[in-house]
Amino acid sequence: MTHKRVKGCYDIFPGSKDLWKDPAVWAYVENIFKKTATLYGFKEAMTPSFEYTDVFTRSSGEASDIVSKEMYTFLDKKGRSISLKPELTAPIIRAYLENAEMNQKMYKLFYLDSCYRYDRPQKGRYRQFRQFGIEVLGKKDPLIDIEVIAMFLQIYKNLGITNTTLLINSIGSKESRETYNAELVSYFSSFKEKLSSDSLSRLEKNPLRILDSKDAEDKKIVANAPKIFDYLTDEEKAHFHQVTEGLDELGISYTIDPLLVRGLDYYTDTVFELIRENDASGQNTLGAGGVYEGIAKSLGGKDVPGIGFAIGMERTIQYFLENNPSFTIENPPTFYCIGLGQEYKKTLLHLALKIRSLEGSAELFEGTSIKSGLKNASEKKARYAIILGEIEFNSGICKIKDLSNREEQSIQLNGLLDWAKKHIKT
Ligand code: AMP
Repeated sequence: MTHKRVKGCYDIFPGSKDLWKDPAVWAYVENIFKKTATLYGFKEAMTPSFEYTDVFTRSSGEASDIVSKEMYTFLDKKGRSISLKPELTAPIIRAYLENAEMNQKMYKLFYLDSCYRYDRPQKGRYRQFRQFGIEVLGKKDPLIDIEVIAMFLQIYKNLGITNTTLLINSIGSKESRETYNAELVSYFSSFKEKLSSDSLSRLEKNPLRILDSKDAEDKKIVANAPKIFDYLTDEEKAHFHQVTEGLDELGISYTIDPLLVRGLDYYTDTVFELIRENDASGQNTLGAGGVYEGIAKSLGGKDVPGIGFAIGMERTIQYFLENNPSFTIENPPTFYCIGLGQEYKKTLLHLALKIRSLEGSAELFEGTSIKSGLKNASEKKARYAIILGEIEFNSGICKIKDLSNREEQSIQLNGLLDWAKKHIKT
């Protein structure tokens, strides 16, 4: 084979040997996402696959990993810098500013879309991956944080996934973080010899990200680093307290992780992550979110506060299947039409078209023997095989085999459609 898919990508394809790449599983999971979001009052939004690059550089921050090293950026034929979406919040806010009626107090949106990041591929990390996400725009309120976190968990409950841990933290406002960042730089500077090269390069530009380091040595140093909570204002602490209190009231368990931060500049206050239980791998985060502000302003609008989360579809589907090992999805046809000869195939083709127009499912056999036709029908788990060959045709009948009990009957050809209509919903 000369052509292969691009490194770090995958195909969703029927019959794929990895069940997580089967489109039927995706459809099942996506349906649960969309249904849950709709129950919470969210409406779907779709934006283009690419944006002008500054939509991301202005909002996420030049020092963020996605902007500094992971974006697929190119110049179009007029020399404009365009980037494939590395994340989905900034494009949603860009679209909100361009399309939404600003007199609305709140906007609740969900989306299911691809992100593109040039990163080292491995299990659970791809260069094109899909996210399901939501955004609530227009208001900052601890009650909204609580509702959004509850919905985030409800999605996983609806998927039958309960072995997860919710981590939460508050990272306060940009101002509080500035003081904290300065403290971090001074703390980590005394460990310059021991820090990994990645962390060293983050020291000046993005010290918060050192807290996320997966390097074992870094982790030891990070454990004793100053904690953001000590740098929050009373108001920020009160916001966080209301969130944790609200989660307690709902019986939602969580772990406060004082080192949890988000990689992008625009996050403030409540941040959260859902991780797989008992999984210390670097790719154990199923989804993550937080409160943000400043994105709309950085894109030229007046500021709109918001909160959102993004769920990694691949990791979630893989975990869903680990939790439901016997999960299968079958959509067997009701009728499997075995025509033995062109003439008879055509008669059955017409019958199948009519059945489908009545919302029944029918498939046509593409072989020449009854034996292999019946074998295929069984493999497809069809309910009825309809057999039409020369002998049947000349007698003005066709044979029906009920594959649930192997019983056979003959039906007059001119009554075949009526018979099929009666059995469409079996
Ligand atoms: P982020 O936008 O980085 O906060 O990511 C949100 C979620 O998307 C993560 O928790 C992962 O589940 C998923 N995710 C992020 N990056 C990748 C990737 N390169 N491949 C697959 N999933 C990813």
